[in-house]
Amino acid sequence: MKKILFLLSAILILAGCVNEQRDKSSCNKLPKVKNVIFMIGDGMGLNQLYAGMTANGGTLNIERCTHTGLAKTYSASSYITDSAAGGTALATGNKTNNGMIGMNADSVAVKSVLESAEEAGMATGLVATVRITHATPAAFYAHQINRSMYQEIATEMLTSGVDFFVGGGRKDFEFRTDSLNYSDSLRNANYNIVYSIDSVEAPVLLPFGALCANVDMPRAAERGNFLPDAVDLAIKSLDARGEGFFLMVEGSQIDYQGHGNSTEGVVDEMLDFDRAIKVALDFAERDGETLVVITADHETGGMTIMNGSYSDSTVVAQFNTGGHTGTMVPIYSFGPQAGKFTGIMENVQIPLLIKTALGL
Ligand code: MG
Ligand code: ZN
Repeated sequence: MKKILFLLSAILILAGCVNEQRDKSSCNKLPKVKNVIFMIGDGMGLNQLYAGMTANGGTLNIERCTHTGLAKTYSASSYITDSAAGGTALATGNKTNNGMIGMNADSVAVKSVLESAEEAGMATGLVATVRITHATPAAFYAHQINRSMYQEIATEMLTSGVDFFVGGGRKDFEFRTDSLNYSDSLRNANYNIVYSIDSVEAPVLLPFGALCANVDMPRAAERGNFLPDAVDLAIKSLDARGEGFFLMVEGSQIDYQGHGNSTEGVVDEMLDFDRAIKVALDFAERDGETLVVITADHETGGMTIMNGSYSDSTVVAQFNTGGHTGTMVPIYSFGPQAGKFTGIMENVQIPLLIKTALGL
């Protein structure tokens, strides 16, 4: 009887393979994904991207991505998401209410893809140009009912297991209303905590954290090569451990410039993010086992490109709002299993696809 059951299931599995091979999914051995670099342009809609592309003479590094898709961004509580619900969707695969960090709509803490990677023994990292306690990075390691609880979010860094982080937010760790110093707590837990990455040589020993501003980093025009440098440092340091890594990189301030309805500001932030994308794609190309996924949490500003010129790098844009919009956002992917991130999908599918690609 057992033998018959075994034979039957073998036939069923085989039949499944034949079926699935027709649409080129499992059973064919999928290429191995050792590392994932997940890049989020906060507020990066198609017009923000195309404004950057136009100002750059008609091309960007992101074009090296081999696959594109679109994501629906609405949250559990609103057609128009905020970055907390958007970040939580992209980090954990759960639609939640605006304002909530790493929790589902029933206020239950949910695990992020970074936390799953950490549990599986991979090296994990976060890079942002805002405070590292801000909504998008926070959604990957913290679980709070409200995004504005920056001090509470900072305390969760200590228990998160995040091996590498670079961003702002020193205030939330060191100049707190409870007088506790979480940089010292992190140091006691073996972290090397620094306040600038200017003279830091790669690879750094993990765990490592850089709190390079009290709150957010300055805008792109004033912060030099901070973001691409931080991504380079992150990749080299996480890769040196040799056990595979998950890195989240946020081009955080595209959103701020969208809120400010500044075309020039959007372009500056977009080009800065694209330089960071180049660092990631260069590594992924050399490495061959690194999947790069790039998307946005939502669009900001209702930006519309009215005119432009590749030859003199000018962009003329209008904005419809000082807030976020509900439009779908683009997804770009490169590397092994990049072909899974195509078509129109829910934002919550993205981290689930990443988990599956990493075998988590
Ligand atoms: Mg953000
Ligand atoms: Zn925003």
